[in-house]
Amino acid sequence: MDNTKAETMTDLPFPEDFTPELRALLAPDLTNAAMIPAATVQKASDLFGMDTSTFMIRLLPLAAAYARVPLSGFHVGAVAMGRTTGNLYFGSNMEFSGHALSFSVHGEQSAINHAWHMGEVGLQALAVNAAPCGYCRQFMNEMVSVGEGFHVLMREGSDAGDFRYSAKPLSHYLPDSFGPTDLGMEGGLMSQQDQPLTIQSEDALAHAALQAARASYAPYTGAHCGIAVQQADGTVFTGRYGENAAYNPSFSPLESALALLNMRQPCQSGYNITAATLVEVDAPISQRSATEAVLSAIAPDVHLSYVKAEPV
Ligand SMILES: [Zn+2]
Repeated sequence: MDNTKAETMTDLPFPEDFTPELRALLAPDLTNAAMIPAATVQKASDLFGMDTSTFMIRLLPLAAAYARVPLSGFHVGAVAMGRTTGNLYFGSNMEFSGHALSFSVHGEQSAINHAWHMGEVGLQALAVNAAPCGYCRQFMNEMVSVGEGFHVLMREGSDAGDFRYSAKPLSHYLPDSFGPTDLGMEGGLMSQQDQPLTIQSEDALAHAALQAARASYAPYTGAHCGIAVQQADGTVFTGRYGENAAYNPSFSPLESALALLNMRQPCQSGYNITAATLVEVDAPISQRSATEAVLSAIAPDVHLSYVKAEPV
């Protein structure tokens, strides 16, 4: 991280009830990205004298501070716990003025995307500050860990200082569900993917996008794709396509990249995108036109570079 970004991070949006000790403990990690390693989670829980689920609930206002909501003004915060690491990853919702609401990123999607990009293979739990909408229930149902102990945490207490919570499996929120197994698929979103793809390009941004395409999840169409966006200071964020058995809650590569960018730079920093490259395979569907449309809303001067990937 360069110094310019670090200097803008002096005022982390901590909830008022976070003590100076706790702020000091969390600030080093949160200055670099909106995630907290398991070791720090343990220290923070000890400091507060509470379990990690309660800590996740208490972090929700902090995650919600990252929301970009020019349309609704409704700030969603989510905190996901990696299945094997116990690391916490924040997520928040994002809206894009001037484009269809279907491009919006939901907080739960953002947290899952964040954890997935950081190498997590499934989640133990996801805390969220508002009941998951139907779209997110379906999105979460695609996750590899959903039937293996994954649970949703919701705050039950409404008074200040009352952080009681419920911990329920997704089947509570989505009974009689439709998911990957109904289409004969094993695994799921966040399972490790390494699609054997290559490109005829030496460009570094295209190769970053290729790595994202190789890691993308597209079991229903085979339309593997990924994007890499570059900021003015040279920082690159990638985005992976994440498909859904019900098709509609599928996560586009640009949504994925923007959600990651939002959670891995100082809270409410600009997009500052100066270049973008989409890599995708020949398939019955394409992300190209939708990507160009959304990119034009946030980076109107950037032309989308487009590279076809081929099987190795
Ligand atoms: Zn939602």
